Amino acid sequence: MTKKNLKYIIAVLALLVSFGIYYLQTPNTGKVLGQFINASSTDLRLMFFDVGQGDSSLIITPNEQKILVDGGPDRSLIGKLDGVLPLADRRIDYIILSHPHADHLTALPEVLRRYQVGAVIMTGAAHTAPDYLDFLRLIKEKNIPTKIIEQPQELVIDGIKLEFLEPTKSFFSARPENLNDSSIVFKLVYASTSALYLGDFENEESLVISSTVPLKSDLIKIGHHGSTNANDQSFLAAVSPTYAVISVGKNNSYGHPHYRTLYYLKQLGAQILRTDERGDIFFTSNGQTLQSLTK
Ligand SMILES: [Zn+2]
Repeated sequence: MTKKNLKYIIAVLALLVSFGIYYLQTPNTGKVLGQFINASSTDLRLMFFDVGQGDSSLIITPNEQKILVDGGPDRSLIGKLDGVLPLADRRIDYIILSHPHADHLTALPEVLRRYQVGAVIMTGAAHTAPDYLDFLRLIKEKNIPTKIIEQPQELVIDGIKLEFLEPTKSFFSARPENLNDSSIVFKLVYASTSALYLGDFENEESLVISSTVPLKSDLIKIGHHGSTNANDQSFLAAVSPTYAVISVGKNNSYGHPHYRTLYYLKQLGAQILRTDERGDIFFTSNGQTLQSLTK
């Protein structure tokens, strides 16, 4: 056996072992991932990646437009994208960056390097983290169009309505006092079904008063990893979700999610799906019903 062959065999074995460990940790993920990939071509598909203590999720529209929301705290998203998107398809139509904290951003420069990205939607808030500067530099270098969200507005992508609720003012080049509160918040609407994406927004009480869009949603991606700073009771009651997704790392040092958030959600009868317990979390919607593939 030549040295080259041996190296190849070792690389393949290492890959098989890492896949094995991944599926042992999240035994249902492989089967559900298959259901997700093969969902009906008229379905909207929503996926929340288990990226540890951070946020990253993917929206695939019925005609395969791909919207990536945030990029997690490390580069693990890259392997996950390879698992869910066809290897020959290197296009991501939109990236939405809720805000530039590292736990939402870290894999995104690498995504820009590896994929052809149609447009980036962000607030343009100032932040000096090296990954963010790298992200902004790559956007410029690759001439990727950007859309800056600085007021409530609506964007329709392949029949899916994205209603941007926050921010309500411009953070472009500004240094917000609380970067979490500069987060992009949007409600996705597909016919009769909806999902609310909070980023790390903590000032939801204001949404209950000011939102011109009904907050009631089938699904909520819980704000700030279930922190008690976010997740006001009146706000959660206004959303009254069937499903509450909490993107959170196992045994994280912040104590996320807070017991009070879990209590409010249980009172509302929401099904709580946590990435630290379920791994990647998958949903499909046919426009009439949004259903969880993750049981
Ligand atoms: Zn965060």
